[in-house]
Amino acid sequence: MKNIDQILEHCKELAFDLEFSYAKNWKSAQTDRVLIGYMPIYFPREITHAANALAVGILGTGDRKQIIKGDAFYQSYICHIPRGIIELALDGNLDEIDGFIFPSICDVIRNLSGTFQILKKGKFVKYLDYPQNFLSHIGGKFYKTELLHILHEIQKINNIEVTPEKLNNSIKLYNINQRLLKEIYNIRQEYPWRISFENLYYVVRAGMVITVEEHNKILEDVLEFLNINNGEPMDKIKVVISGAFCEQPPIGLIKTIELAGCYIVDDDLLLGSRWMKGDVADNTDDPLNALSEAYMNLSTFSSSVYSVGKPKGEQLVQLIKERNADGIIFAAPSFCDPALLDLPVMQKACDDANIRYISFQYNENTGQYKVIKEQVGAFSDSIKLWEDTVSS
Ligand code: SF4
Repeated sequence: MKNIDQILEHCKELAFDLEFSYAKNWKSAQTDRVLIGYMPIYFPREITHAANALAVGILGTGDRKQIIKGDAFYQSYICHIPRGIIELALDGNLDEIDGFIFPSICDVIRNLSGTFQILKKGKFVKYLDYPQNFLSHIGGKFYKTELLHILHEIQKINNIEVTPEKLNNSIKLYNINQRLLKEIYNIRQEYPWRISFENLYYVVRAGMVITVEEHNKILEDVLEFLNINNGEPMDKIKVVISGAFCEQPPIGLIKTIELAGCYIVDDDLLLGSRWMKGDVADNTDDPLNALSEAYMNLSTFSSSVYSVGKPKGEQLVQLIKERNADGIIFAAPSFCDPALLDLPVMQKACDDANIRYISFQYNENTGQYKVIKEQVGAFSDSIKLWEDTVSS
């Protein structure tokens, strides 16, 4: 196993490199390599991998860049993430990226895709619609057409044909990636003190800007480290974070939650990295169909995704039970319509299941954590005290 501190430091640098240096270096090594930028939440990176393209996750600027031009594009009463992305685009940070994917998660992302088109960024801009009908011959067929459209755009750039063999191979690699991440989360649920959530976040986020092959190696090393008994448990409660699936909270906020007495044992930050609940079929004649079926049948839940017959509140309660968590922290970006519109439904499900929770909002560049620290600290203490009362 390599030195874990070096691995974590490497992941931290990759995760917050707003120049996307790794991706640019990767592209420059071969003439037919292509970079595809994608916005939150989920994008089937298997198709870009099979087309000799690297999918690069674009998550805004966090608290690492001053936003000036981006603010001129948007009214004050929407979330922060599109401002940072526009700032990156106007400052040239995304110039090497050949195409941009905007998954259909909300009106803000839809409008951002239009702005990229007006600014003529990249060789193509694709607003990727996801199916809202889960029948294979309707929604599934539609989704395959969407994916074919993207493959066609990439082929126009590098002239590489994607065969079923190539796509099956890419699916295999991402299945391994998802399995490793699940294993890491499962071990961490039992022994959350072995690696901080902050460090885990760096590891997962790094995977959004590097090749899946390299990320799998990193995950194997992290898993090896997690299997060794290290660290000491502290008197903290276990919580799940919900609502942070798109604009990411600043690292300071994550640290604050941990320091205020919580082990974060599951979350929806970087949710697209852990999207599938199981393996995508990786040995079929029609791997695009396999991806389509997986999207319709294996997707996790999120406020930004249409689902039918599977109430999200129930799925959240199920997750908390599976993780044996003591409570939930609803942390959503300010003005995030999908997260905040679902909040009452999610909270009602928690009330019905007698699950304790708190809720607050943030911006990706929030800089003051005192109030949140007090709120989370009081939450943690109240759960510990309450449990003592019940058991005595
Ligand atoms: S933070 Fe919420 S409102 Fe803003 S782009 Fe993301 S999903 Fe849309």
